[in-house]
Amino acid sequence: DFALYQMKSKRGGAVEFFSSDHQQLLKRRHAIDFALQAGDFSRELSLEFQPVITLDGGRLVGFEALARWNSSRLGPVSPNDFIPAAERTGIVSRMTAILLSQALDAMKLMPDHLRLAFNLSARDICDRETALALLVQIRQSGIDVSRLDLEITETALLSDFDTAAEVVRMLRSAGASISLDDFGTGFSSLSHVHRLEFDKIKIDKSFVLKCDRDERSMNIIRSVANLCHNLGIQSVAEGIETAEIRTALQASGVDLGQGYFFSRPQPLAAVLQGIAMEDGRAAADGARLAG
Ligand code: C2E
Ligand code: MG
Ligand code: MG
Ligand code: MG
Repeated sequence: DFALYQMKSKRGGAVEFFSSDHQQLLKRRHAIDFALQAGDFSRELSLEFQPVITLDGGRLVGFEALARWNSSRLGPVSPNDFIPAAERTGIVSRMTAILLSQALDAMKLMPDHLRLAFNLSARDICDRETALALLVQIRQSGIDVSRLDLEITETALLSDFDTAAEVVRMLRSAGASISLDDFGTGFSSLSHVHRLEFDKIKIDKSFVLKCDRDERSMNIIRSVANLCHNLGIQSVAEGIETAEIRTALQASGVDLGQGYFFSRPQPLAAVLQGIAMEDGRAAADGARLAG
């Protein structure tokens, strides 16, 4: 907290305040790195699934798979903490392979028309061998590659753009769709959008969360929706928490959405139950129409 930092610095206590805060962070990091390396991934890692909905019509198009780690040492750890840790410690590719295997298994239990979005990390796309292994894993599962939206962030592209670009092209020509995740944060650049053919652009939730109170966020969202329309690709908004925001985004021309307003990420069993209920309702509607 910057204000506190300044206040304390007048009294000469700033350095201590800052360093203890920083030390806390480093301690937590070390604990996560350590627990990760000692962890039994096949038992501690799982996925939750968040619905992706068409904003006009409210139709379910699929889910985003989100990684969960319940560490036997630390308890639940956020992916915002353990994914960077996995990258740091060099085990992220092993982790991605385990998560992808769970994702592909989940897809086998879902109707064929539903898509699954799966997040790739920087390491996954900045190494040809790793990316190729993932593709082999998808092919061997028997799942139709074209049901997958592979999500990558611009930050991931930056670490080695040429290799990442080559890998993205490879995955795309194998039939996968590629989404540019967290657009608008970090080093958003139209040159990335230009140099790589994305199938979807996901507008970061930092804009969506405050777009009802912040005109500039709303304008940025509208511009990205327009950009996507002009490129003939889909825009996706993450972090839709209210009916008002959903309506505003729909009016701005955003194609797809996800967020707590529709559903929080849920374990597979809950999601499958939801799909079955939807199907039941659709069947009942069909019977009513036919009869
Ligand atoms: P992301 O890919 O941008 O995922 C969206 C995040 O927004 C998720 O956080 C999701 O739970 C959260 N979210 C969804 N709807 C709402 C909403 O209405 N309001 C708010 N405030 N948040 C919402 P989560 O699950 O904590 O994941 C955080 C990040 O960790 C992800 O951001 C992604 O970058 C990374 N991640 C998650 N799973 C994986 C994975 O399997 N592999 C890799 N490489 N990264 C992953
Ligand atoms: Mg994502
Ligand atoms: Mg995102
Ligand atoms: Mg995000």
